[in-house]
Amino acid sequence: MTEYRLDEDFALEMDAKDPLAGYKERFYPLGDAIYMDGNSLGLMSKDAEKTLYRLIEEWKTLGIKGWGGGKIPWISYAEELGNLQAPLVGAEKDECVVTGGTTINLHTLVSTFYQPEGKRKKILADELNFPSDLYALSAEIRLKGGDPDEDLVLVRSRDGMIIEEDDIIAAMTDEIQLALLPSVYYKSGQLLDMKRITEEAHKRGIIVGFDCSHSTGVVPHKFSEWGSDFAFWCNYKYMNGGPGSTGSIYVNKKHWGKMPGMAGWFGNARSTMFEMRTDFDPARTASAWQIGTTTMLSTAPIEGSLRMMREASIEAIRKKSLKITGYLMYLIDEMLSEEPYNYGIATPRADERRGGHVGVYHKEGWRINQALIARNVVPDFRPPNIIRLAPVPLYISYHDVWKVAQHLKAVIDNKEFEKFTDDRSTVT
Ligand SMILES: *Cc1c(COP(=O)(O)O)cnc(C)c1O
Repeated sequence: MTEYRLDEDFALEMDAKDPLAGYKERFYPLGDAIYMDGNSLGLMSKDAEKTLYRLIEEWKTLGIKGWGGGKIPWISYAEELGNLQAPLVGAEKDECVVTGGTTINLHTLVSTFYQPEGKRKKILADELNFPSDLYALSAEIRLKGGDPDEDLVLVRSRDGMIIEEDDIIAAMTDEIQLALLPSVYYKSGQLLDMKRITEEAHKRGIIVGFDCSHSTGVVPHKFSEWGSDFAFWCNYKYMNGGPGSTGSIYVNKKHWGKMPGMAGWFGNARSTMFEMRTDFDPARTASAWQIGTTTMLSTAPIEGSLRMMREASIEAIRKKSLKITGYLMYLIDEMLSEEPYNYGIATPRADERRGGHVGVYHKEGWRINQALIARNVVPDFRPPNIIRLAPVPLYISYHDVWKVAQHLKAVIDNKEFEKFTDDRSTVT
């Protein structure tokens, strides 16, 4: 347990001994802003910029020949990056592929693994997952002829913030065929015990997959050791791959060879792909779950970012993440939890139950969020009253976090939030 202190010098001392401190300079800062929104869109790094420019150069100089002649041939780029990403998520060789988008990947995976039969025809999810996932699950149920009102079982939260693993497990009845859950909740920052959920699902004959959009790049995973069936995630949050960058898929090797639900020619084995046969010959790896041509321009920045993260190591990133989120919670608890501040923390306290951001609630959350933006802090807001603050380990310092706490204090001391309306039509 780190002993924290409230004074500014403490933050500076922590920065001086932070082994990851040097990475901040590899990112482009947004002027003087303190960027606490890396859980929505990670900042651009020079490393990501470089691999993107390399791709642009290859396009310029190689044209179509880039598919075979790029520094990494474009034809195998999705698999190569999947293998670069594998250690970040505890995957074995060829279990990951960088392809598609988050919601699209959910569709292709769920359409493969959701096979309702007889009594076992339901999908288990929860009411706090990101809405897109729930829309997609409902659509997958309709596509298989079911009724989401009946076949999509949503675990309820007891307090509106946290989903208890016990409640998830209790809902794993013999009517559930597949469970799809997030790793980290986008509002509260709660981290689910994926190992336990995988084990309990498998004991009951349930296939289990995870949406790791809010954990990849900040929390280590051990998919292969846990035996989770599949996972997917976006690469634009903690992975810093750029706005709308290509997503990723994990398919446990025990499932290789299954027919993908949404087949396309990029999932074909490379050896027969260009024979242009009428019948699909799926790759015998996770590569089979690709659909179409690799979106090279939105994949290339991920390469630089991935190499940087491998260099930093996900273990070191997690270590700092826990320390620095713990520090932020400490500052809020000690300075800002009582009158007149009244900030509260929605994120679970135990290290093993939280991801990379802290969910801070306040009844004036919306207006405080605006006031923070006016003070050059970049947080974000999720209804009804959560301000999300992500001290991303590679580019946020302890001193940044100390300053954010002073801003949280000042917007109340000076009643700055009162200058903003409660009109919530702006997108953050
Ligand atoms: C960010 C996020 C998404 C985003 O989906 P896209 O298809 O990339 O727009 C989906 N699910 C979760 C849990 C997320 O955190």
